[in-house]
Amino acid sequence: MITKPIPYGHQHITDEDIQAVVETLKSDYLTQGPKIAEFEHAFADYVGAKYAVAVNNATAGLHLGAIALGVKPGSKVIVTPLTFASSANCVRFCGGDVVFCDIDKDTYLLDIDKVETLLRKTPKGTYQGIIPVDFAGYPVDLEKFRRLADEYGLWIMEDACHAPGGYFVDSNGEKQLCGNGQFANVSVFSFHPVKHIATGEGGMVTTNDKSLFEKVSFYRTHGITKDSALLHKNDGGWYYEMQDLGYNYRLTDFQAALGVSQLKRASSNLAKRQEIARRYNAAFAEIDGIRTPFLSPSAYHAYHLYVIQVADRAGLYNYLREHQIYAQVHYVPLHLMPYYSAFGYRKGDFPVVEEYYDHCLSLPMFPTLSEEEQQYVIDTVLEFVS
Ligand SMILES: *Cc1c(COP(=O)(O)O)cnc(C)c1O
Repeated sequence: MITKPIPYGHQHITDEDIQAVVETLKSDYLTQGPKIAEFEHAFADYVGAKYAVAVNNATAGLHLGAIALGVKPGSKVIVTPLTFASSANCVRFCGGDVVFCDIDKDTYLLDIDKVETLLRKTPKGTYQGIIPVDFAGYPVDLEKFRRLADEYGLWIMEDACHAPGGYFVDSNGEKQLCGNGQFANVSVFSFHPVKHIATGEGGMVTTNDKSLFEKVSFYRTHGITKDSALLHKNDGGWYYEMQDLGYNYRLTDFQAALGVSQLKRASSNLAKRQEIARRYNAAFAEIDGIRTPFLSPSAYHAYHLYVIQVADRAGLYNYLREHQIYAQVHYVPLHLMPYYSAFGYRKGDFPVVEEYYDHCLSLPMFPTLSEEEQQYVIDTVLEFVS
């Protein structure tokens, strides 16, 4: 038996984390102090990118990425419908058009063949960019997307919110960490409590492109600069210029302190997620009524989510709730949201993601899920399915 309800995801805050936040609260800086730069550098190192910009949440990070990449009214951007709303909303924030494209039935990622079909049907220059998502933590093969994007002159913004630490193996046998900037122009991570690293609200934009890095930094702080090389004039030491319309999308220093502290456990927590996935996989391997996540030797899954598919998803969802297990559905396909339906999308447009949505359920997956709790989840799932 279990003593408390089991959510699908949960943050892990240690005494060391709390200490780190308290120290920063007692320091001279509450926002944009030394912890921001420390977090940015440590995170860039962790994912293998040249540049990282800390932001107040991933939605803001995606918006900054879209601005830096030049999304404007009329820009057409290809987005997977299997994601959280922000992956598409960032295009709308800039007035661009979201063009959904169906997912692959095995990996659940944006289907590159369908993207190619879409690109072939229209003259070059019709589309500006692609936003693939490392859904559930399964890494997108960005090498393949890069090749296609280059052929059609597109940029790639990787929504890597589910996948810090995940990687795919490229055609040269090299590991390519999600967000490392080798293939995507920009990548974005979230530090919402259910994600791998928690800062309350928080996010990070990574890139290897210096000019994109500078644009993201500039629009993060109101479009204001103090850089003497960029000023139109200079009235003195106090002088700054607002050169374009930007935002306040900054992270606070005490959140960055929490991020630095959390990041130290990112690798070991990822190993725990892998272990939990292995136990689920082993328990469900022989069960006909359960489809487990797709595995490939060339993909190191970051397991933000552990998604199964079953025939009676609503039945299982309710049965688990009756047993204090709060499984979730990720996601209601975006093209079926009333907001996006108003652009003309309807049921039947993307049969693969719609079929997936009818059967998917995310089981509890977080590093502090105990073996006993997991066994209870497994037993309860099996009770219902068999
Ligand atoms: C969580 C999430 C976001 C948004 O992150 P916030 O930090 O809450 O703004 C965007 N995309 C995906 C895929 C996510 O899972």
